[in-house]
Amino acid sequence: MGILLVNDACSQKIPSKNLIMNNKDTNQYSIQKTEAEWKEQLTDAEFHVLRNKGTERPYTSEFEHFWEPGVYVCKGCGAELFEAKTKFDAGCGWPSFYKSINPVAVKEILDKSHGMVRTEVVCAKCGGHLGHVFNDGFDQPTGLRYCINGVSLGFKKKED
Ligand SMILES: [Zn+2]
Repeated sequence: MGILLVNDACSQKIPSKNLIMNNKDTNQYSIQKTEAEWKEQLTDAEFHVLRNKGTERPYTSEFEHFWEPGVYVCKGCGAELFEAKTKFDAGCGWPSFYKSINPVAVKEILDKSHGMVRTEVVCAKCGGHLGHVFNDGFDQPTGLRYCINGVSLGFKKKED
C-alpha cells in the first residue's frame, strides 16, 4: 500500500531542527479549549482550517495580494506569527512567508496524510493548523515557503 515507496524519510530535507514527529500530545499547547468553545469563537471556515486541518480554496484569501506593513496573527489565539516583510508572492494561491516571526511562534510537525510527506505548521500557543512549510522558496532568504491558509490569520497594522 505504498508504505515502502515513501520510506525515504532520511533523505527528506527537514526545514526545522525542532520538527515534531507526531502531534498526538495536544497538551503541549498553552491554550486549551473544547471543540464547542472553538466553534463559538470561530467561523465555520476558520474552524475547518484551524481545528480540523482543512485547506482553504487557493486564490480565495483576502491576504493573497495584500502587502500592508504589519504583523499576521493567529485567528485562534491572537499570537503573532509572521511579519508582513517576510511575505512574498509565491503564485501558489495562498499567502506565503519565508520565515515565522521568531523560532518559537510556530511548531512544525511531520505530516504523512493524503499520501504525501509534508511538514505541517501550527500555532505554538493554541495548536491551530496554519498550513505547511516547503523547501521550494528558492529565491527567498531562507529557501523556505510557509504556505499558510489566509483564513487562519488575522492582521495587525504597523503602529508607527
Ligand atoms: Zn494560535
